[in-house]
Amino acid sequence: MIILANERGTADASQSSEKKVGRRSFLKVAIGIVGAVVAAAVGLISLRKPKEPPVTPGNQTIQTPVTATSVTSATGGQAAQLVAFNGKIITVDPNDSIVEAFAVDAGKITKVGTNEEIKASIGDSTQVIDLKGRTVTPGLIDSHCHIGGGYPEIYYLDLRPGKVNSITDIVELVAKKVKETPRGEWVLGFGWNPAYWSDKRMPSRLDLDPVSPDNPVFLADMSGWYGWVNSFALNLSGVDENTPNPLGGIIDKDKTSNMPTGLLINHSAMWLVKKPVPSQEQMEEGILYASNLFVAEGATRIEDNWVRGKDLLTAYQTLNGRGEPPSPTDIYYLVNSEDEAETGLAAITSVQKKFGNRVSLKGWKLQVDGGAATAFTYEPHNGYAYSVPSLYPETLKKIVSMLHKSGLQICIHVIGDKALDSALDAIEAALNENPRPDHRHRLEHVVVSPSKESLERIKRLGVVISTQPQFIYYSGDTWYRLFGEDRVQLSAPVKTPMDMGIPVALGSDYPCSPDTRPQMTLWSTVMRQTITGRVIGPEERVDIRQALRLHTMGSAYASHEEGMRGSIEAGKSADFVVWSDDLYSMSTDKIRELKAELTIIEGQVIHKSSDTELEVIPGSQYTG
Ligand SMILES: [Zn+2]
Repeated sequence: MIILANERGTADASQSSEKKVGRRSFLKVAIGIVGAVVAAAVGLISLRKPKEPPVTPGNQTIQTPVTATSVTSATGGQAAQLVAFNGKIITVDPNDSIVEAFAVDAGKITKVGTNEEIKASIGDSTQVIDLKGRTVTPGLIDSHCHIGGGYPEIYYLDLRPGKVNSITDIVELVAKKVKETPRGEWVLGFGWNPAYWSDKRMPSRLDLDPVSPDNPVFLADMSGWYGWVNSFALNLSGVDENTPNPLGGIIDKDKTSNMPTGLLINHSAMWLVKKPVPSQEQMEEGILYASNLFVAEGATRIEDNWVRGKDLLTAYQTLNGRGEPPSPTDIYYLVNSEDEAETGLAAITSVQKKFGNRVSLKGWKLQVDGGAATAFTYEPHNGYAYSVPSLYPETLKKIVSMLHKSGLQICIHVIGDKALDSALDAIEAALNENPRPDHRHRLEHVVVSPSKESLERIKRLGVVISTQPQFIYYSGDTWYRLFGEDRVQLSAPVKTPMDMGIPVALGSDYPCSPDTRPQMTLWSTVMRQTITGRVIGPEERVDIRQALRLHTMGSAYASHEEGMRGSIEAGKSADFVVWSDDLYSMSTDKIRELKAELTIIEGQVIHKSSDTELEVIPGSQYTG
């Protein structure tokens, strides 16, 4: 995904009053145009399901103090900090046990068992939740998303489906914004997606130029792999018909005139245009905004897989110092070249110390290719290009070898089958050079079906697959058009690797996919259904129990945390969700409609839905 890194300048404060699109209105319009979904030449298509209004700190977020209690319970034993009973508690322990109740102390689960056993831990100061039969699961762990990319939702022109339905709509919004913006200042937008437009074409600078003669305009698409700019922005950046494509990127050019069309494909091409970046405070605000979206949906831990640049790192450090964001977050730092790897390695030890429990710097992120339309594949596909890797295989080998020595994990973005094999080549070479057990290096996405041989190598090398099945819903039809039926059977693979013993982790890839709901990921893992109803790789379907395990224990394993979280077992962090329905017995198709009534992280109620009847009651009401 794109985060506006590699660029310097001041944020355009004139855009700070942009209104966010209402999530419900987004859905209404988006659903209305589902029937008109066209196979646009974009890699990732998206549609957002309805959400509650964004939760902001001090609004629906509830903080309760975590303190270890030393008060005795009614039965004379140690009183718990929190007791939840009368539930169907899916523990996701090794036996997939289901229990009635559990107790929490100092943010950790201390005991699971029957109502009678656990209620004995209630003391006067215990917080008690009568679950009234609700289903509880461990908190969901998003193994791949980018809450560091939350700020455009607050500060930039919102061009997501639902807000706009055509190029004309976008041009009108840009024209309006230009009128409010001083000459020469930037107009920035995000979220456009041609798959939902009435136009059957990609946009160009010629659409924007008439309404923006004196302002540079940069509009990022929803997938984060396309920039749409006007002529002013191209001129300002010195990009013209003579500018060569950067490594891994494409400056789309008119076939007759050879002039840039205003479409910049993949990050390296997008970064040719130097636009302003948000301030560190705006980045912090974006992280909090996105983190709150996730916790309101039942995610209790985030792995932000694309942290780039000092400003974003500092924003995360500052939040960590304040005990934020609400979702504890692991971050992975993006490196794009050997030079960046060297700089990163020189700084990593001191930088890591600046993080803590709330945000921790877990490792590195690399990208071998870009979006689906430029997937690095062995055979041609129907996108823009099939042979434009972001890192050449030999460079990738050198970088992986360097980063591997840091002892940290390396996450490698791979869309195409050739990208995947080149990542495995690099990992294997680094391991041969410096054997390291339990490295858990990761492949992120895995869209074009990997070969059997590649899967066997993944297994042999101890590599984790971190994938995002909800893309099957939002982008599966595009994948099908780009790669054909055979090459999508193992897109976002789950069952085959699981059966082979390959660790699999699940995530959303928000905001490249707009959906922060883990229940949408669970649904997609079980259904593998596209927005038009096509099933992609039916053999890769798993049942809800397996999907839940992957999105909890699987994602915890992917960041070396399976001993600390991911299941409701004594000794683990008390991260759990109380759901509106029972995901094990409800109709499979309804799973994505589940609502998180309570989200609890480290024993604290972080989110309570406005319509839940559940209450946190003082233990004195039970002991008295
Ligand atoms: Zn991503």
